[in-house]
Amino acid sequence: MAYFAVIGLGRFGTTTSLELMHLGNEVLGIDIDPKAAEPLAERLSQTIIADATDERALKELNLGNCDGIVVAIGEDLQASLLCTLNLLNLGIRCLWVKAGDSAHHSILSKLGVRNIVHPEEEMGIRVAQSLNYPMVNSYIGLGHNTYIVDVNITEKISSKTVGNLRKATGNQVNILLVKRDIEIFHHPDDNFALQNKDHLVLVGARDVLTKLGPLLK
Ligand code: ATP
Ligand code: ATP
Ligand code: CA
Repeated sequence: MAYFAVIGLGRFGTTTSLELMHLGNEVLGIDIDPKAAEPLAERLSQTIIADATDERALKELNLGNCDGIVVAIGEDLQASLLCTLNLLNLGIRCLWVKAGDSAHHSILSKLGVRNIVHPEEEMGIRVAQSLNYPMVNSYIGLGHNTYIVDVNITEKISSKTVGNLRKATGNQVNILLVKRDIEIFHHPDDNFALQNKDHLVLVGARDVLTKLGPLLK
């Protein structure tokens, strides 16, 4: 079990803090506005009404014991930056900060914050990708243009084998597993026959994966 603090209990901060609780952690929620903090009083380990731009108030909260802190004040640029600066001054290193726009992002980055998130933009990208690649259920970017993707097998290609797909990419894609209902087949060989509603999990470079697009649509 780890101990986290979430500062700013808007929609993003609330969701993050409740999920951390759900995962079995202790969470301290902080908000300047009682209307944001009070509804969470029973659902988080502790909630505190405090102004996170006030360095002394933050110091009293002993945040140094936290395994990670999320700054989820997105819209008030000044409050977010002051709060972040205060946390950095307190020696806190594991920081995740929500940014409202690109100016906010650049300043956070200059301050040395490594985990900067843009929930609205990131979700916007995901929705656009899902519309463009309807067969992709979910994906994880591994960096250097490499992705793990979970693809839905539709009736149209259910007659194909794993070997057919591998060949279509010039053997450049690594097929990790096929999920069929609750069954999982690890490293299926070329003869493995795909069925409608299977999930195929593969890893490869983006340009190689997109070669599969026309085949899977
Ligand atoms: P979301 O979209 O996630 O709802 P947001 O990015 O639009 O949030 P705000 O609604 O501006 O951001 O702020 C999130 C929360 O942060 C609010 O509940 C607000 O009261 C709180 N907050 C703002 N300033 C401070 C501060 N100085 N100290 C503590 N909490 C603050
Ligand atoms: P975000 O957090 O993504 O910036 P939001 O969820 O806070 O957005 P709003 O900013 O209220 O939502 O609305 C998003 C956009 O939708 C705005 O540009 C707004 O003008 C537009 N919008 C609101 N109502 C309508 C409507 N009835 N028809 C068309 N567009 C609308
Ligand atoms: Ca918002």
